Amino acid sequence: MNRDILSMTFDELSAEFVNLGYPKFRAKQVYEWLHKHLAGEYDEMSNLPKNLREELKVRFPIYNCTVEKKQVSKIDHTVKYLFKLHDGDYVESVVMKYKYGYTICVSSQVGCKMGCAFCASTIGGFKRSLNPGEILSQLYTAQKDIGERISHIVLMGMGEPLDNFDNVMRFLDLVTNELGVNISMRNISLSTCGVVPKIEELIDKKLQLTLSVSLHAPNDEIRNTIMPINKKYPVDQLINICKTYTNKTSRRISFEYSMLSGFNDTDECAKLLGSKLKGMLCHVNLIPVNEVDESPYKPSTPERIERFIQILSGYGINSTVRRKLGSDIDASCGQLRQKKNKKQKEDTL
Ligand code: SAH
Repeated sequence: MNRDILSMTFDELSAEFVNLGYPKFRAKQVYEWLHKHLAGEYDEMSNLPKNLREELKVRFPIYNCTVEKKQVSKIDHTVKYLFKLHDGDYVESVVMKYKYGYTICVSSQVGCKMGCAFCASTIGGFKRSLNPGEILSQLYTAQKDIGERISHIVLMGMGEPLDNFDNVMRFLDLVTNELGVNISMRNISLSTCGVVPKIEELIDKKLQLTLSVSLHAPNDEIRNTIMPINKKYPVDQLINICKTYTNKTSRRISFEYSMLSGFNDTDECAKLLGSKLKGMLCHVNLIPVNEVDESPYKPSTPERIERFIQILSGYGINSTVRRKLGSDIDASCGQLRQKKNKKQKEDTL
């Protein structure tokens, strides 16, 4: 049976190699080639005997993604990739440069089933979840392409990471392994639309990552109309589990709040949000909604956002406006898609 080697942990790889009668040190060599030196092919693994390379090619194919299309923002040099997966599906990833280094926003699924009304990722529907190697491969391929170390990861691309829990946990394990790219768990953020039982499971893992929660509304009335997940796990239940999360992990939660003009940006919304989050170890990240062709929402005005920030600060809550990057290449939050859309197709011609 062929095994997807990029998704295997070092322990699994070692066990397989021992089973096959290979010397144990070969597993470490191969693991490091794949995850530290980012070799895309066995023929790059120069310290392996040729016959072993040939065997490995058959037993353990390397399912890397390839760059189908790359767009670079003229405004801030943000790079958006359309990656082709080995079965022909597509996902997008974005690399952003900050003062502290490069960050990649990776996708965890092809499409999304969550159906948030303002988000492009959900428009083409849900196709499938990515396996751990496919999430890693976005990072590896992008890092090789830009030729710089990527030190931070946000699981904020296409898909709902907690709807692909086991694969995402294994991805985290692989990406933080010191034999590989060795990214610190503290440099990783995971964003969820609020799958409450999975947040509960995450609490038990006691990871040092940053949890971001897409709140976008302070009550069920508004949240139900833009986020179907809210019908299953209502706002107060979500905020409660977030409180448990911060109490048990002592990690600050980041709430994402897309500002939709005239819809969730009123003084009443800010007050209700403030009263619900008061006293909590949290930060609110306001995101003027990025326009998506198929959705009617417009971003709030800077004055409205400023007023929202002031009201929240009256409740002792710190909030900031998320910097918008890659706006000329549709690389901002909620603009990632699974297909080469019409415009992109035209661009490539
Ligand atoms: N499924 C995860 C991660 C993906 S999206 C989640 O829901 O959190 C990352 C963030 O961008 C989420 O907070 C999401 O709600 C937000 N977002 C989606 N569409 C947006 C848009 N058009 N404008 C601004 N933010 C958007």
